[in-house]
Amino acid sequence: MNKDPVVAHYLLQHEHSLQQMGCLEVPSLPRPTLRNDIHRIFRLDSWMRGYGQGTERFYTRMKPALRLASLMITESCMLPWFTHLCHGKRVRVEGTHDSKGYVYLEPRRPSREGIEEVRRALRDLAEVVVFMFVPERYSEGKWKNSWGTSAVCWRKWPWSRRFRAVDYPFMSRAAVRFEGEGHGLPEIALNREFARFFDSGYEECTSSEQYRVMYMFAVTLVHELAHAFWMFIGRGGSPPGTGEEPRWHKEELRAELGYSWETITMGRIVEPVLGVYGMLKRPCALVSLRTEAWAAGQPEPRAVRALIDTVSMRMKKVENWRGVFFGRPVDGGRGTEWFVGTSMSSKHKNCVSVIHAIPLRWIAQWFSECEWRNRREVWRAHRLIHGCNIAEGRPYDPPGLGPTFMMVHLRLANKEPQLWVSSIVQDDPNIDWERMATKAVSVYDGF
Ligand SMILES: [Zn+2]
Repeated sequence: MNKDPVVAHYLLQHEHSLQQMGCLEVPSLPRPTLRNDIHRIFRLDSWMRGYGQGTERFYTRMKPALRLASLMITESCMLPWFTHLCHGKRVRVEGTHDSKGYVYLEPRRPSREGIEEVRRALRDLAEVVVFMFVPERYSEGKWKNSWGTSAVCWRKWPWSRRFRAVDYPFMSRAAVRFEGEGHGLPEIALNREFARFFDSGYEECTSSEQYRVMYMFAVTLVHELAHAFWMFIGRGGSPPGTGEEPRWHKEELRAELGYSWETITMGRIVEPVLGVYGMLKRPCALVSLRTEAWAAGQPEPRAVRALIDTVSMRMKKVENWRGVFFGRPVDGGRGTEWFVGTSMSSKHKNCVSVIHAIPLRWIAQWFSECEWRNRREVWRAHRLIHGCNIAEGRPYDPPGLGPTFMMVHLRLANKEPQLWVSSIVQDDPNIDWERMATKAVSVYDGF
């Protein structure tokens, strides 16, 4: 959960606006309308049984989220992110005295066959991957703050000795073969909070609360699958799946494939904020937070420039807020380090943090069959008229949030830090950021 005092403090002060913008409680939300099959990878058999599990008790309640997660790993418009993992050329950048070396994936021309290959690999992964919830006894401390963890650890979680052999999903002969062929066999452990919600919290929650948790659950599952997929395809060194992850594209500041997938696909990294830091505590809203940093004297990133130009015209400046916030970059959120690099070193004198409250209608549209039909049509149209300029030639863009509550924290070298809020602007610089990233990798070309 986001623990940044400025985020929680100012969002709490604007509870009324959040409610008005449909970010807290929306009384008449449509029910999820997804009817697609649940991918084999999420079938009940893939989930551990026994110690601290009991998934069969609440599996039915997980289904809307599992349907959404399934679409995220089967729809054509969702898969180019994965094809780049299979086909991108590994390029190693050597470290210098003040930076560590790293690997990134250089684009190669994607192809329609690449999408089929990803589908096949995900079906194969379904034969071996194991899902579980962190057992209640281990749910504090280290395991409390992690939404999910993936590892090729093969029965080496701190609680693994509590499982019996029969608690594990059935492994086919294929699974044994996969290991011999250099694939990593990943296991995924999910935050206990999800199991609590589906087991006993679900019934007493409003539909807004249910949507928020189901969205977080679906995204966490595929975030972890992004890691697991990399481990499984065996491009990550030896023993299989244990080597370092690459940066999905060159401009990423850290290798974290889960966050890369979230930003490219959803356009943002989302997390709950407000109240006590439990995702079921009220009031609660989902927010996305993105911080960009750049060295003083360097030109600011294009999306940041556009944002700074807009801010002073359309947003309200918050005065006298320094007592709460000490001029550091907004901190503590999911993905902050991924956005700004390993450390906010002194050369990064400029930074901007953009915080959006997430409207329920945006969350609900992910669970709407109709929205997915639209996505399919845009993708198909792009394939048919390939080369023509339809919708800027882009077969997929993350959906924008529409008007919502937004805060911008600006900290420019040698200037007083500034905080701006607005509940009317529609600006969504994240979409622009993602356009640049996907264009750089030509990930949607060639289909
Ligand atoms: Zn991750």
